[in-house]
This record gives sequence, structure tokens and C-alpha cells, in this order.
Amino acid sequence: WKFLKEMPKVELHAHLNGSLNTNSLQDLAEKVYGNTSEEFSHLCARFVNFEKDSNLDKCFEKFAFVHELTSTAAGLQYATELVIRDFANDNIQYLELRTTPKANKNYLRRDYLRIVLDTIKRSRKKYPNILVKLLPSINRSEPVAVAEETVALALEFAKTDPDLVVGIDLSGIPTKGKFTDFCGALDLARREGLKLVIHCAEIDNPPEIKEMLSFGMSRCGHGTYLTEEDFAQMKAANIPIECCLTSNVKSGSVSSFEEHHLKRLMESDAPRVVCTDDSGVFDTSLTNEFLLVVETFNVTRDQCIDLTLEAVKHSFASEQERQQMALKVEHYVNSLQ
Ligand code: IMP
Repeated sequence: WKFLKEMPKVELHAHLNGSLNTNSLQDLAEKVYGNTSEEFSHLCARFVNFEKDSNLDKCFEKFAFVHELTSTAAGLQYATELVIRDFANDNIQYLELRTTPKANKNYLRRDYLRIVLDTIKRSRKKYPNILVKLLPSINRSEPVAVAEETVALALEFAKTDPDLVVGIDLSGIPTKGKFTDFCGALDLARREGLKLVIHCAEIDNPPEIKEMLSFGMSRCGHGTYLTEEDFAQMKAANIPIECCLTSNVKSGSVSSFEEHHLKRLMESDAPRVVCTDDSGVFDTSLTNEFLLVVETFNVTRDQCIDLTLEAVKHSFASEQERQQMALKVEHYVNSLQ
């Protein structure tokens, strides 16, 4: 545990609102909304409690609880800081945070992104050991016009902060929306230099999987229902699968850790990275995900280091930043000898 905890890890798949753990939710409720009630603690306990027969739909329902707490500017700002704090405390040296810009009576999508970006920048002083980048998310449940607005905003912010806004994510309930409807917005983002991360094959939908693979992406979220041929295609194109073990098992999309496709990815030496997805909702951490990988697949310390270096390689950091990350890992390894 200590070895994994202290390893300078790289997190490439983390949704902002899904990454608030129960302690942080309580901090948020207390500091921003003055809520210290027992009822809230019970709600938090229920939030991370998964029934045995859980499924993706039930998981998605959980986000409403967090979204309420981040529906004010102050709530969103503090939530962003807490998430960075929690990842920093887990020795994450590099974090690509994704989030869906939202609009409500308190903020517009532009304000939402501005708040998150400003908080990331301000957090640099307080948490100097973690480098954070942002990937605005398109929620496939929402209309295409919203996706277009998200891409336009991402491109606008990427102009002023190119080292911070580095890509676009496509996520949301996988049974909702039609992938091809979002291709125009995604293609514009790609042509303008943003990287694409796409939640792909989270459910068994072969026609959509085919469309996504032929459209292309820089990294693939989950990839649960990819076939061996798809893996070979991903390997040839050097596209890693972002593997989120606890998320997949708790949401019922993978039946057990032993059955997780990370095993097949390792056997076929296809690119893969270990990630948390929603460390708050799924009550996990990247340290814990690595521990699961070690315990389930008998992965060695050296292989954990290799997985971390693989994540460095597939990150959207600059060449220089990637070199620094790799150096940190090397120093860590040397410090153990
Ligand atoms: P947010 O974008 O910061 O609000 O993070 C939570 C949101 O991320 C959810 O409401 C979903 O739209 C998306 N999300 C989180 N986990 C998953 C997943 O496993 N698959 C698809 N979308 C997800």
C-alpha cells in the first residue's frame, strides 16, 4: 500500500463532480452552505452505498446529489479545490480533470468553465506538487447545440490558456444521444488542436463502437465491450483504454475484478491506463485502483511503475512536462533502492 500510495501517480480519467468523496462533500456542505446536519451525513453514506444489483442508470442518478452542491459559484469553486486537494493527497502528480460545463440560475456555461479554470490556477500555489489540466465534457444526453457551445468555449479558453485546456471529453449516459450527431462538434475541436477522449463501448452497442473507432480518438474511456479485434486496432493506433476497475464493477458493467478487460489488455500488450473515473461516487482512489490491479492480477511493483510511465506517455501534457513527470517516477524508484 505504502509503495502505491507514495508512487507519483498520473490520473487521466476523473470527472470533477464524481470525484468528491464523502469527507469533501461534508466539507463543502458545511463551509459553503453551513449544513452540518446528521441528515446530510446519512445522505452521504447512502451516496457511496451500492446495491449488489447496481447498474449504470442507478450510478448516473447519484450525480444529482453532487450537482446540487456545486450549483452555486461558491460551491463549484470550493468543490474544484477539494478535488485537487484530494488527488494531491493521494500523490497524484498529474491530473486531467474533466467536467461538463453547466448553466443554471447562478452561472452560465462560460462562468462555469471560468470558475473551474481560475480555481485550478489558484490551487497551483497551495498544491504545488500536482499539475492539473482541464478537459471540458460534452454530455451526450444534452442537445447538440450545447455540445457546440461547449466546444466553442473550450476553444476560446484554450486560446488564453493552451497549457490548461487540452482536450474535449464525450461522456454521459451511454444509451442517450446519437454519437454521429456530435461528430461535427468533436471534429471541430480536433481540427483546432484539442485532443479527444471518448467514452466508448461502455455498453454493448456494436454499430456505435464501430462509428467511434472509425472517427478516432486520442484515448478511449472504459472500452468495456471492445472485441479482441478492436483491441488490436487500438494497439495499432496506439490508443490506450482508460481502465476504471471499481467504477465498472460497482456500476455492474463488469461482473468482477477478475473479469475486468484490463487482464486481456495486458495479455495482448495493448495500451491501457489505470484511472478512477469517479473516485467520490465509487469511494476509491488511484492508490486503491492500483492495489486492486496488484491483488487481482498479481502485477509487480515494476509493472505498476510501467503503468504509471504509460500514463505519462498518453497524457496531454507538453513534452517537457512529460519528461518532468517521468523524472519524478525515476527519482521515486531510485529512492527505494
Ligand atoms: P461532471 O461533468 O463534473 O458533472 O461529472 C459528472 C458527470 O460526468 C456525470 O453527470 C456524467 O455526465 C459524466 N460521467 C461520470 N462518470 C461517467 C461514466 O462512467 N460514463 C459516462 N459518463 C460519466
